[in-house]
Amino acid sequence: MNYCSQCSHPVDFRVPDDDSLPRHVCDNCGTVHYINPKIIVGCLAEWEGQILICKRAIEPRYGLWTLPAGFMEREETAAAGAARETVEEARAEVTDLSLYAVLDVPQISQLYLIYRGTLVGGRHAPGPESLETELVTPDRIPWDELAFPTMQVTLQHYVETGGADLTQTGPLTKTIRRPTRKPC
Ligand SMILES: [Zn+2]
Repeated sequence: MNYCSQCSHPVDFRVPDDDSLPRHVCDNCGTVHYINPKIIVGCLAEWEGQILICKRAIEPRYGLWTLPAGFMEREETAAAGAARETVEEARAEVTDLSLYAVLDVPQISQLYLIYRGTLVGGRHAPGPESLETELVTPDRIPWDELAFPTMQVTLQHYVETGGADLTQTGPLTKTIRRPTRKPC
């Protein structure tokens, strides 16, 4: 952020009085601009022992597979956001959503909330952000072509617990540290 969104004056980046972290501060109108973590909502949608996955048609991670997920919008619930992303990315309706995984990714200030649900009628098709959508059995998950560590962790948990009911396992909670990229 370079300019105040309230008054267009250039902002300073410093620790405000009585605060502990640096913020973008506008000395013209006095606004302190807080930038908070992003929430990503997604869906592990099941149909007859299979899981819905999407091949990304957008960067980052173009051409790799993911569970349908995206940024939570204002004024929606997390579960509604997960269902909305599933409609947008996989043209698929889900019902009976329950919270499946809470994944912190502090290095990039993201929090993932993944819901588990049932795919209505087994119907799916690629939306504009997907090249393909597919239903896969757990033994056909493309582990080497997954887009994000969060999806790998979620799917690993699903496989390791044999798709056990949430009332037995409770939601998965985990902090994910991104591996440092090796220089090419
Ligand atoms: Zn201002």
